Amino acid sequence: MSRNQPEDIHIKRMADMLRQGSTLTDLACPACHSPLFRLKNGDVWCGKCEKKVVIIKEGQDASQAQGSSALNLLETTLLVKIQETQDRMQHEQDVDQLLKINATLSALLDSLEKLRRTRKA
Ligand SMILES: [Zn+2]
Repeated sequence: MSRNQPEDIHIKRMADMLRQGSTLTDLACPACHSPLFRLKNGDVWCGKCEKKVVIIKEGQDASQAQGSSALNLLETTLLVKIQETQDRMQHEQDVDQLLKINATLSALLDSLEKLRRTRKA
């Protein structure tokens, strides 16, 4: 019985990412110096640390980069929730439930709008 070495798992993971459409960048992970990948959604990812790496552009400080990435994450979450709520709405027959779902949806859309306004400010 053979067990995978951590390095093998790392290489396999990188191969999987390439197969899924990620591209290898010329950047190195600040933590482990592994080559970084760019995911299809534009995020930069370290396959070894298994986490997103925030690339800080020149003239932008770390707290700003962190802040905008937190907003991006929140926006993604809101969009997913809006989608889920819309799906529920399509399949719901009960009027009371529909009203509740509608209230949820409008609250979510409201949050999304506020978020986008915050980012522009
Ligand atoms: Zn890393």
